[in-house]
Amino acid sequence: MSASPRALFWHRRDLRLEDNTGLSAALMQVGDVLPVFIFDRHILDPLPDRDDPRITFLHQEVSAMQAQLRAWGSDLRVYYGLPEEVFAQAKAEFPALECVYTNRDYEVYAKRRDAEVQRRLEAQGVGFKTCKDQVVFEEKEVLTLQGKPFGVYTPYSRAWRKQFHPDMLDEQAVERHRAGFWQTEARYPIRTIEEMGFVARPDFRFPSREIRLEVLRAYGDRRDLPALDGTSRLSLHLRFGTVSIRKAYKCALEHSDKWMAELIWREFYMQLLANNPRIEQQAFRPEYDNLRWRNPEVEFAAWCEGRTGYPLVDAGMRQLAQEHWMHNRVRMVVASFLCKHLLIDWRLGDQFFARKLLDYDLASNNGGWQWAAGSGADAAPYFRVFNPALQAQKFDPQMAYIKRYVPEYNDPRYLQHPIVDHAFARARALEEYGRAVKLPAADSGYGE
Ligand SMILES: Cc1cc2nc3c(=O)[nH]c(=O)nc-3n(C[C@H](O)[C@H](O)[C@H](O)COP(=O)(O)OP(=O)(O)OC[C@H]3O[C@@H](n4cnc5c(N)ncnc54)[C@H](O)[C@@H]3O)c2cc1C
Repeated sequence: MSASPRALFWHRRDLRLEDNTGLSAALMQVGDVLPVFIFDRHILDPLPDRDDPRITFLHQEVSAMQAQLRAWGSDLRVYYGLPEEVFAQAKAEFPALECVYTNRDYEVYAKRRDAEVQRRLEAQGVGFKTCKDQVVFEEKEVLTLQGKPFGVYTPYSRAWRKQFHPDMLDEQAVERHRAGFWQTEARYPIRTIEEMGFVARPDFRFPSREIRLEVLRAYGDRRDLPALDGTSRLSLHLRFGTVSIRKAYKCALEHSDKWMAELIWREFYMQLLANNPRIEQQAFRPEYDNLRWRNPEVEFAAWCEGRTGYPLVDAGMRQLAQEHWMHNRVRMVVASFLCKHLLIDWRLGDQFFARKLLDYDLASNNGGWQWAAGSGADAAPYFRVFNPALQAQKFDPQMAYIKRYVPEYNDPRYLQHPIVDHAFARARALEEYGRAVKLPAADSGYGE
């Protein structure tokens, strides 16, 4: 048993001990590997809700990984702090340390954090090695014939599929190489949720990580009907890497091409954000930043609380409040309603989803919101204004979804007071959008 690990593996969006590229590489290439996880205060401290269920989810997953590693004779070192400070002390804590391995993360904050961690490790003579794990193709791997990133989904997905080969889904084994974990009798503690300033949610029922093949087989027919349990509910697990994306694609290949297309949407938005970091704050199409958003606080609060008087919109927002998840079709309807019917800035809706969604992912959320606002790369045209009543008739014809979340749906007092009249709101949106997109766009300084 050596006194210090020679490698650390830093878990971030890959909270699993199977099919993990960076962990597998560390075990095979170095050995004496100690996995670590950091409850990152840069992320935790600004969270507005102290009872955020994502903290409970993270805590449960990290504890389960620690138990598994202990069963293998190793441990998980869990920190609560700032990554750059944790790694600045790495060599002092582990004198034999040669290298830190991790899987790449493509968000703006993550890239900045990793560059700083690398700088601090190298100053101690410790290497920093990153691997591709959470996507099949990274942002510069699927390009147009001119060598540029794609801005439109359909040609991107065509090129993605052309370049794809099932060998790319080969499992990156962990357990088979488990002799490479640092053997230790150390028993590293994990702070409680309360010690980190949050409230535990032990009763919260998180979606299962099981990939339900019967759901995938019927996905094409049932995915758009929010009353049914017709989608995988894997988004939380794909977000935190508790399910491997390669495993998901393998199931898609066998059972549902339509589901495969959705997984490719996920990668499309990831490459879009990685190649255009400005869209985190700005419209992808700069002319949409000419829009004069109204942003009335009272109307925004009514939308957040599911009190707009539009049953499908209210059902969606109440599902979000109760389950911290919302069906994709309804996400599209509520997002369109906020931007177009109420002329409220998509960034406010994006932030509200970021606060509430278990599966919140910067790239997919930004992509979904800019799609709804019309400002996105591949967005709904601005003159397409969803009619929430028609959407409800089409996708919730028995009103089963609406009845579940809006029991007063039939009460005249509810129905007589929609927050805004549809025809009026539609005309107002068309006028404002029409005005804004005709104005010259401010030069964003970025290419597509
Ligand atoms: C306004 C808006 C905001 C959104 N915000 C997020 C978000 O923060 N995080 C998130 O993961 N998804 C987001 N989506 C996409 C989509 O709604 C969810 O991925 C989906 O509802 C999750 O449920 P599921 O796992 O059952 O999906 P399934 O239908 O079973 O799809 C399987 C997986 O494919 C991916 N996927 C599916 N649809 C999309 C899509 N349109 N864009 C990108 N990836 C997709 C997800 O990883 C999902 O888990 C958003 C969509 C809209 C319109």
